[in-house]
Amino acid sequence: MNHFPIFLNTSGRRIVLSGGGDAALAKLRLLLKTTANVTVFSPDADDQIKAWAEARKLTLINRAMEPGDTLCAALFYAADEEATEDKRTAAIAHADGALVNIVDNLADSQFITPAIVDRDPVTIAIGTEGAAPVLARAIKADLEEKLPTGLGTLAAIGKAFRKAADALPFGRPRRDFWRDYYFNAGPKAIASGIEAVQPALDTLLADHLMKDTRKGHVAFVGAGPGDPELLTLKARKAIDEADVVIYDRLISPEILELARREATMIDVGKEAFGPSTPQETINALIVEHGAKGAQVVRLKSGDATVFGRLDEEIDAVTAAGLDWHIVPGITSASAAVASIGQSLTKRGRNTSVRFLTGHDMKGFADHDWRALANPGEVAAVYMGKKSARFIQGRLLMHGIDPATPVTVIEDASRAEQRVLSTTVAEMEPTISQAGLNGPALTFIGLAPRSAMAAIPEIPMPVQAQEAR
Ligand code: SAH
Repeated sequence: MNHFPIFLNTSGRRIVLSGGGDAALAKLRLLLKTTANVTVFSPDADDQIKAWAEARKLTLINRAMEPGDTLCAALFYAADEEATEDKRTAAIAHADGALVNIVDNLADSQFITPAIVDRDPVTIAIGTEGAAPVLARAIKADLEEKLPTGLGTLAAIGKAFRKAADALPFGRPRRDFWRDYYFNAGPKAIASGIEAVQPALDTLLADHLMKDTRKGHVAFVGAGPGDPELLTLKARKAIDEADVVIYDRLISPEILELARREATMIDVGKEAFGPSTPQETINALIVEHGAKGAQVVRLKSGDATVFGRLDEEIDAVTAAGLDWHIVPGITSASAAVASIGQSLTKRGRNTSVRFLTGHDMKGFADHDWRALANPGEVAAVYMGKKSARFIQGRLLMHGIDPATPVTVIEDASRAEQRVLSTTVAEMEPTISQAGLNGPALTFIGLAPRSAMAAIPEIPMPVQAQEAR
């Protein structure tokens, strides 16, 4: 970032502009929205500028700029649209200590004026460091369309009401009140006229003051396999609103970024707690924060209901008398199968699919190996890296065809995704020799579709990576 966006207080400050043509007009239209004292130097100013001067909106001096004319100016615009003159006036302003902008000359300017969406006092500045003015204009047009024109009025009335709203306890109750105002009561009131807004605010505040402090709530949220775009809209919303986020080791940083800055983020997968945080500690943490009235998001990788020890947490939350709900997520088997272009079920091949865990609390997990060894069976093995040799042995013992395809997808949906294509006969030592560091899902009975199958290790297609 070469240009740092700030909002400059222009009230009572001088802003000087040299020029009297189209470029000067365009800049002045923006500058006249501010509370600055604007002075224009031009021996030959446009009629509009003269009219503004007569209306005392700016001061017009009918001559070219001279040294000393920009003394005490905060900003200076060189807008004569003539390179030599712009250079001369910029040098004067520079010597007088003003920050200089030369219209259409990014390289010699000290600041740039962003594209502005104006819902005063809500102002959105868009900048591309001069790289793509077209893009800035497109973003501006998009925002202009999305933001209701009444937003500025709501914000101005809201600003004057801030002191009164301080009667609400700090934190969630205050946030709930303002959210209600800006997204519900405010827009409704303004639809029936600006005079309806103030009474609506008073009623809203009375309602919120009477409300019991909001009860704690726990959302068990599936965060999907890692790609933030694979979050559900409900997951996104729950994260947005969370006071406390309690998350596992596999949750990607991009997803954690989505939480509010003030939210308390608790990592329960960290080494610091030992190899992993004991389940009882996690249960206790969820209950502790919920009981304090927090909106808790318990963020689990993939789908919270798949190999997530969800029931133990629900039991603890229920025992503590807290409300809860589950937000489903995309389980890693779904993401992994998509990445190899296959289906989990297929007519004529398999009418059921099993989700297995490689190990459980007692060690390697036992399954119906005989059924799994049948031709055409498809199984998705979670947590199957260490148990690969065990699984291979059991399947072969129950007569599986050794040539049955086995595909391992590491870091499904993430930039580091890797695909390992092998067979039951060779899955070990292939898997242990591959040096897999990330979470990996193993499919028994599925190979990557078509051409991909011939390549043993396939990095994610470049195009797909860029698309994310
Ligand atoms: N609830 C999760 C599973 C938790 S168990 C879900 O629905 O996906 C953890 C296991 O999930 C890992 O050992 C790995 O087998 C699998 N897993 C999680 N994220 C993965 C990813 N991005 N790519 C491949 N496997 C993943």
